[in-house]
Amino acid sequence: MEHSSASEALPRPLTPHERAILDQLLGGDFPGAAEFRVQAEHVRVVAMCGCGCDSYDVGLTDPDVPRADLPNGPIAQELAVTEPDGTYYGSIILLAHDGVLSCLDFHTWDDRPLSGLPPMEHLSVVPR
Ligand SMILES: [Zn+2]
Repeated sequence: MEHSSASEALPRPLTPHERAILDQLLGGDFPGAAEFRVQAEHVRVVAMCGCGCDSYDVGLTDPDVPRADLPNGPIAQELAVTEPDGTYYGSIILLAHDGVLSCLDFHTWDDRPLSGLPPMEHLSVVPR
């Protein structure tokens, strides 16, 4: 994939990698899943973290999408980030605000240098 940087023009469509991670996070059955999956078809990246983690904020391109009736905060599942040797080194959470997807946050438990979102093979869905 193309490496994203904070200096590129925003808003922009999600990259295929960002889209794949979002789709994985929103798979299955959990509170708000149906609404969030509809929203995910109508979002674009509006801000990026510049620290190297490539966490990003999304904004709706269609304000009329259905909203989830949930309190602000993380959705009910997250992605565990694990190296092939089994080292569990971080997680990706997805935050919703006013029932709408707002921010995908990748963080790690150690201070390893980051060069973007982790590869798909490091990710697995876990309940929060
Ligand atoms: Zn960051």
